[in-house]
Amino acid sequence: MADISRTERKPYWPGPTFEAWRRWRALAYKPGPWVMHAVLDDGTCECCDPFRGVEVRSVLEAMCRVLPRRSARELRAVLTPLDERFLARTLNDPFASPQDPWWLRRLERP
Ligand SMILES: [Zn+2]
Repeated sequence: MADISRTERKPYWPGPTFEAWRRWRALAYKPGPWVMHAVLDDGTCECCDPFRGVEVRSVLEAMCRVLPRRSARELRAVLTPLDERFLARTLNDPFASPQDPWWLRRLERP
């Protein structure tokens, strides 16, 4: 936790880690059919969104990369079950760029 808040104080940091995690979890646990589209419509106002233009999973990934190894391992342990659930519930987007990270290569619309 201390490592995370230390990193969040850096001016370039894109957004709050806890909120990113909350949104990623909400997406993984999105109600409705098991197979879902990879977008969370949680009523977040676009202009007030702390992650405008940034994917929440990208924020979490960036945090995993800058944290000291031990803290990064703890954060990854929290993310892994959500990542697995997200992957199990979404479909591969055949038109996605292979350069994109895995969480952006899932179908977002029918
Ligand atoms: Zn707004």
